[in-house]
Amino acid sequence: MFLTGKTALVTGSTSGIGLAIARALAAEGANLILNGFGDPAEIDRLKQELGARHSGADLTRPDAIEEMMAEAGPVDILVNNAGMQHVAPVDQFPADKWDLIIALNLSAVFHTSRLALPAMKAKGWGRIINTASAHSLVASPNKSAYVAAKHGVAGFTKTAALETATSGVTVNCISPGYVWTPLVENQIPDTMKARGLTREQVMNDVLLAAQPTKQFVTADQVAALAVFLCRDEASAITGANLSMDGGWTAQ
Ligand code: NAD
Repeated sequence: MFLTGKTALVTGSTSGIGLAIARALAAEGANLILNGFGDPAEIDRLKQELGARHSGADLTRPDAIEEMMAEAGPVDILVNNAGMQHVAPVDQFPADKWDLIIALNLSAVFHTSRLALPAMKAKGWGRIINTASAHSLVASPNKSAYVAAKHGVAGFTKTAALETATSGVTVNCISPGYVWTPLVENQIPDTMKARGLTREQVMNDVLLAAQPTKQFVTADQVAALAVFLCRDEASAITGANLSMDGGWTAQ
C-alpha cells in the first residue's frame, strides 16, 4: 500500500484502461478521483468499490476541466487517460470530430497538467502519466486526428518532463498497442466500412496485423506499468514514451 495518503485523479476511468489503472492505484492505497461518462448506477457502484469520488466533467471543455480540478484539490498523481477515436480518411473527416479529438486527447492533457503542477511542485513530489498510444510513434490510415493528438501528447510529455526535472515530479507516457476495450470495439464497424472488410478481417488483418505477438495488450498490464511509475524506483524515468505494444513499433 505504498500510495496510502496520495490522491490520484484518473481521467476516463469509468471504462477500459483508465478503470484498470484506477483499480490498481486504489489497491495500493491511493485516494481515487474517477472521471468519465457512463451509467450512473454503475458509476455509483465503482465509487463504492474503490472508495472514490467521481467527476463527470466533459474534458473537451476547458471550463469543465477547471471546475473538476478546483473540486479535486491538490492531486499527487494525475493520469491523463481519457480519449476517443474516429476513423475516416482526411478528406472525409468531420471537422467537428477533429476538434473534439484534439480537445480531449491532447488539449485536456495540457489543461489538467497546468492546473495540477503547482501543488506537485510545492510538495516536491508528483507523477503525471499520460496514456498515449503506439499512434504517438507511428501512424495508421484513417486516424489523422488521433495520430496527430497522440504525437502531440508525446511531445507535451517531453516538454513538461524537462520543465519539472529538478522538482520531484516525473512526467511520462505509456504507449499501448491494441488493448481490448470499448474504444477498440467501437471502431470496428467504421473500419469495416472504410476498408470494405469483415469484422474478422478487421480484427486479424488490421488490428492484430500490427502486433507481432498477435495478442491484444491487457488493460491490467498497462495499469501495472502506471503503478510502477509511481514508485520511488521509477524517479529517474521522466520524459519517457514507454511502449507496451507487443513489438508493434519495433518493426
Ligand atoms: P474506453 O472507450 O474504454 O474509455 C474511454 C474513457 O474516456 C471512458 O471512461 C469515457 O467515459 C471517457 N471519456 C470519453 N469522452 C470523454 C470526455 N469528453 N470527457 C471525459 N471523459 C471522457 O477507451 P480505452 O481504450 O480504455 O482508452 C483509454 C485511453 O487509452 C485513450 O486515451 C486511448 O486513446 C488510449 N489507448 C487505447 C488503446 C486501445 O487499444 N484500447 C491503445 C492505445 C491507447
